[in-house]
Amino acid sequence: MAKIAINLATGSLQKEEIIVGIDLGTTNSLVAIIHPDTRTPIALKEHNSSSLVPSVVHFDAYGNVTVGEQAKALLITEPQNTIFSAKRLIGKSYNDIKSNASFFSYKVIDDNNQSLVKVQVGNKFYSPAELSSFILKELKQRAEHILKTPVNKAVITVPAYFNDAQRQATRDAGKLAGLDVLRIVNEPTAASLAYGLGLHKDEEKTIAVYDLGGGTFDISILKISNGIFEVLSTNGDTYLGGDDIDNAIVQYWLQQAGIDEEALKENSAFAQSIRLAAEAAKIKLSTNDIFEGTLNGDALTITKKVFETLVKPMVDKTIVCCTSALKDAGLAIKDIDVVVMVGGSTRVPLVKETISNFFGRQVNDTVNPDEVVALGAAIQADILAGNNKEVLLLDVTPLSLGIETMGGLMDVLITRNSKIPNKAARQYTTHKDGQSGMKIGVYQGERDMVKDNRKLAEFNLTGIPGMPAGLPKVEVSFLINADGILVVKAKELRSGIEQSIEVKAQENLTDGELEKMLMDSITYAKEDIATRALVEAKTEGEQLLETTEKFVQKNVAHLSKEEMMATAAAMQALQLALTLNDKDIIHTKVEALNEISRPYAERIMDTAISFAMKGRAV
Ligand code: AMP
Repeated sequence: MAKIAINLATGSLQKEEIIVGIDLGTTNSLVAIIHPDTRTPIALKEHNSSSLVPSVVHFDAYGNVTVGEQAKALLITEPQNTIFSAKRLIGKSYNDIKSNASFFSYKVIDDNNQSLVKVQVGNKFYSPAELSSFILKELKQRAEHILKTPVNKAVITVPAYFNDAQRQATRDAGKLAGLDVLRIVNEPTAASLAYGLGLHKDEEKTIAVYDLGGGTFDISILKISNGIFEVLSTNGDTYLGGDDIDNAIVQYWLQQAGIDEEALKENSAFAQSIRLAAEAAKIKLSTNDIFEGTLNGDALTITKKVFETLVKPMVDKTIVCCTSALKDAGLAIKDIDVVVMVGGSTRVPLVKETISNFFGRQVNDTVNPDEVVALGAAIQADILAGNNKEVLLLDVTPLSLGIETMGGLMDVLITRNSKIPNKAARQYTTHKDGQSGMKIGVYQGERDMVKDNRKLAEFNLTGIPGMPAGLPKVEVSFLINADGILVVKAKELRSGIEQSIEVKAQENLTDGELEKMLMDSITYAKEDIATRALVEAKTEGEQLLETTEKFVQKNVAHLSKEEMMATAAAMQALQLALTLNDKDIIHTKVEALNEISRPYAERIMDTAISFAMKGRAV
């Protein structure tokens, strides 16, 4: 049932519950909405404060949690119980992060390399999703405080390269924070939306989104057409960002003063102050030619020129990533129509200039780069709320989805161009007596034989209790959620055993491949129909041979010699027909065998039934 919220600020009833957009960042997070009056996206902030909430969670000795600026202030002095960059851990196992383990100054549990990591604070263990949920809870409370209305629904952004586990963990974090996560949106898609890209149905554009934040760099190449965003490629460096610029400035100052780097490790207060001074210098140098400050009475200066020599190698690194991303997308620089800047570090003029030069066009930097992703998430939220009727950010399945059935046939459960989210289910059964397992092969494509389609996943439903062939009822269900994640579940309905698997349907499929698959399905349509008919006939013939043989063996005592001989001859004829690739001949022989076996099969069944009835009467 829909909830009705009361807007305490205006005293009016809000029929439509507000849906917020959240940028859950590695360094900072924030929440945005579409302003109900101006209909423009705004980042929410308390009076005289920043919209950014540092993505830092602090636990005190009693387990009390603080999030944001207050927690950030304790990063250096209480490293073991102040958690930053939880986003780098989300949906990951220790194996995944082992090579960067020294980055984390808190305890990341390493005793089970395979399963998802946990963080230890005191004697408590937290999953990255729980840690992120504290940040989301803070954002939810902030939004409720500012809007004076309950906030229960959100759109949350994630990097385009996040896999299913990471997207799922982000959803879980939302749930833990008491938020109904309506959609997980790619950060570059959200940033593009904030620039108004993709809001017109007929728009076709190729967009490069350059995101240089506090700790990470991402470049994504997107294509927008028919209101659908597609990620063509992503690249980046998960350990490159504003923090590295700050560090470079600190190193420069230490070098100038002849102070050993080790001094930082021994004096955490000094380390904290000099880092803050470096960040302040960096920010000042975005608009000034020189920074002059002091620390403990000593002068700290740096000119823009020196600053730029420090930053240049980092910017060059990002250019290498941009080149790779273009290559992976199969595009040249001239194919890019728009370049969007995201992340606080893109405020550095050298970054903007270099990227403009590389792409040979002015970059889009008019929207606050710290807020642009959250603003885009708010736009997406508004579209989901149905307030923006002109836009239909409709996601559809580009190809049909189905499973392999007998003889290698494709059995489609969700047809191409179906709207997502979507679900479908169908029942299957076993074809051998006592069959305890069933292989579920999941395919994508338009051809009738799975061998001509794209295999997405395969799993086994095991532990089906022994039953005669045809008796188990295995329901296979497909569920594609709004994030494009397909969950395939197989359940044997009589015993209740089940198994499922998650697949990302559109993964790694380029436009060219998609087009080819569709073209092939048209080119080979006639052959495909013929092949399907033949395979179905063969399957039917093989099954009939099998059941007849079993039936005859079991009931040999009830059959006459003539019946036995006629059956054997018809079976032989069918067997021979199966070797000829002609469905009509197979059908004829199937019919012939049925004609012979039907009379005695019915006779024997009648006897069995009356026998059973008598048995019951006793
Ligand atoms: P984000 O992760 O997008 O919130 O980016 C935060 C990063 O942007 C931090 O490293 C900030 O120091 C940096 N930043 C913020 N403002 C500026 C600025 N004016 N010039 C350079 N870097 C900035």
